[in-house]
Amino acid sequence: MHYNANFMETAEVVIIGGGIVGSSIAYHLTAAGCKDVLVLERETAQGKGSTGKSMGGVRAQFSTPVSIRMSLYSIPFYAGFEERLGHPSDYRPQGYLFCATGEKHISYLRTNYQKQIALGLKDVRLITADEIRSLFPQLRSDDIVGGSFCSTDGFVDPYSAMIGFMTWAADHGTKLRKNTKVTGIQRDAQGIAGVETTSGNISTRKVVNAAGPWAAEVARMAGVDLPVEPLRRMLVPTEPFDQFPHTAPMIIDMSNGFHFRPEALGFLLAWNDPEETPGYKTDFEPGFIEKILTRAADRVPMFENLAVNPKRAWAGLYEMTPDHHPILGEAPGVPGFFLANGFSGHGVMHAPATGKILSDLILTGKCDLVDTSLLGLSRFAEGRLIEETAVL
Ligand SMILES: Cc1cc2nc3c(=O)[nH]c(=O)nc-3n(C[C@H](O)[C@H](O)[C@H](O)COP(=O)(O)OP(=O)(O)OC[C@H]3O[C@@H](n4cnc5c(N)ncnc54)[C@H](O)[C@@H]3O)c2cc1C
Repeated sequence: MHYNANFMETAEVVIIGGGIVGSSIAYHLTAAGCKDVLVLERETAQGKGSTGKSMGGVRAQFSTPVSIRMSLYSIPFYAGFEERLGHPSDYRPQGYLFCATGEKHISYLRTNYQKQIALGLKDVRLITADEIRSLFPQLRSDDIVGGSFCSTDGFVDPYSAMIGFMTWAADHGTKLRKNTKVTGIQRDAQGIAGVETTSGNISTRKVVNAAGPWAAEVARMAGVDLPVEPLRRMLVPTEPFDQFPHTAPMIIDMSNGFHFRPEALGFLLAWNDPEETPGYKTDFEPGFIEKILTRAADRVPMFENLAVNPKRAWAGLYEMTPDHHPILGEAPGVPGFFLANGFSGHGVMHAPATGKILSDLILTGKCDLVDTSLLGLSRFAEGRLIEETAVL
């Protein structure tokens, strides 16, 4: 494939994918002064990928410095979102409460807590079992031995944040082209030369892969092998339920990973089924309801009375990497091909930091927010994986 000087259209940066990650990158590039950004989205509307399916949880309670630092940029960003972008992100700092049910969990939370504090997180604290009991007497707590709580963790509205990023970017020069699927990526001796789409070719020297769970397909178009796999996640919203406080944080039962948070007049229930296998499965499996309600009633006995309407439950795709960390930065051997992929369940909460990192790398070649050498694609070939164990 060769660079074709007769291309009709050009852009300084082409972003493939208009989900929350592509939108944040477009915002950060535009805010940094790059006015010639084109976002290509194959759907007729934004948000039809993982972003529109997300639970909207944001937290800084992670186990690795890279994840913690990304949250330390992203959560304050969400807190000031409306002031900065003129559009709500609906950030609700109701916290995340991890409930430990064994000494192993406690020492794990303590180690994480020390890392979080050392990196500058102020609002996290270890919490005793008695305090958990007095805050939430509705929880079955005979096996709870303590926990960890961070008050600035909480929830956002992923769709609203995505639209906020893109609207600001579009108002300041970014172009968003919907209904336009990228079908090929062209390379020449210098690196990236352009993209082929269902509505024509575009000449560019810089392409960003922000294609969410479809990232590996897009990377293949540039000859890059990307270890990102789609993995189904299902969420079950309940009907209105007022016997548990709606001011509650995200509550995580560490014995089995079941977690829930208030949503509208009811609750949103989540559990990572260990039997799930990778693939593009987006159908909701009715059998999941019984599995999750069993876990819900086990931790919150009054949830035995919860009503759920299976028609309102949904499934979406996580974009998993082997070490549960994103792959960020220029692909080795393909100058101008930038990756923003594989968020492994954290793409909404880390979208602001990702936008900043990608914008810095694209415009200046370096970024101070995190040690980007840790997040590059080459870590897999070089055996430098960074294991994140605090995955929900
Ligand atoms: C059930 C569920 C719960 C979740 N909960 C949380 C949570 O609580 N907190 C959190 O931080 N994260 C959560 N996540 C993860 C989060 O939603 C994702 O990491 C994030 O939305 C990824 O954003 P994205 O922009 O990379 O991908 P997407 O939103 O999938 O966007 C990618 C876009 O690329 C487009 N595209 C793909 N291929 C092409 C092509 N060839 N040409 C043009 N366009 C293309 C797609 O149409 C899509 O719009 C959850 C995910 C799921 C499924």
